[in-house]
Amino acid sequence: KLRVLSGMQPSGQLTLGNYIGALKNYVKLQHTHDCYFMAVDLHAITVPQEPEKLKEQSEAVAALYLAAGIDPNVATVFLQSTVPAHAELGWLLTTLTYMGELERMTQFKDKSAGKESVGAGLFTYPSLMAADILLYDTALVPVGDDQTQHLELTRDLAHRFNQRYGDTFTIPKGYFPEVGARIMSLDDASKKMSKSNPNAGSYIAMLDAPDVIRKKISRAVTDSGREVKFDPQNKPEVSNLISIYAQCADKTIAEIEAQYEGQGYGPFKKDLAEAVVAVLEPIQQRYAEIRSSGELYDILRQGQERAAAQAEQMLKRVKEKMGYVVL
Ligand code: ATP
Ligand code: MG
Repeated sequence: KLRVLSGMQPSGQLTLGNYIGALKNYVKLQHTHDCYFMAVDLHAITVPQEPEKLKEQSEAVAALYLAAGIDPNVATVFLQSTVPAHAELGWLLTTLTYMGELERMTQFKDKSAGKESVGAGLFTYPSLMAADILLYDTALVPVGDDQTQHLELTRDLAHRFNQRYGDTFTIPKGYFPEVGARIMSLDDASKKMSKSNPNAGSYIAMLDAPDVIRKKISRAVTDSGREVKFDPQNKPEVSNLISIYAQCADKTIAEIEAQYEGQGYGPFKKDLAEAVVAVLEPIQQRYAEIRSSGELYDILRQGQERAAAQAEQMLKRVKEKMGYVVL
């Protein structure tokens, strides 16, 4: 079985963008691939996090994986910080990464724009992400298309290491959904939907109550026309909503366009809201059960053990190749 690995930052509440762009594919891939899914809590602190919230959000990410359908007996679910090899390989790869490569990263530019002080970790983050992936001989990384650039750097670092020290790392590929690889903000279709956006109206959280979801969708920005037509260039807002609809109702874009021909945005938005609620409500119910069952830490401990066994082996190989004394 090919190895799959991916993660989400506990930097806020998971959104519908995280679900459509990545989590839905996690669930799909678990039965055909050897899967590792983590909450990347070391990445979350590249922007300031309150300790209490970080812990709560880390647990929430793991519990949402399970609630969305990840079976912890099939896939390995763990917290990045519980496997120290991530931070260690992260450092080794940071020394192999060029400043110029990091300076080109659009996520760094976006997240640092307008900030008075920016932590160095926000800048070096892609090297740690490369370590996360390369530690596990990962073949496929299910992510949204905002991660394309980071993945490309991961591949470059793997090549660089292999060339300098001999064949060590598997070169990973991205795995993206056909529709919805980049879900946009509800209030501004030029920005991607992000859980760290301070405006909660810009995203749908996976744990938003059904009425909140309905309200957010009814308030979602649209153009002044009335045609439900997929045209990302000229109608980015409506096209974004169509993508969400397609993923939540399991319909094609053409089917949705035909269904709402001549009807305007009203009926479309109403049905869209119900389609989103129908996907998220059962996940929310399972989430509540998982949080109250007290089994989460046992699952994470089991995940930690499995992940560490893999990661430590690879780290040892890497250190030997680089010339470290491995005792
Ligand atoms: P943050 O604002 O803290 O960066 P985020 O919403 O971007 O939060 P991440 O934890 O950075 O979430 O990313 C988790 C996964 O979700 C990644 O695979 C990423 O590509 C995917 N993803 C994030 N935002 C979107 C989006 N708007 N559409 C599709 N996929 C997304
Ligand atoms: Mg992000």
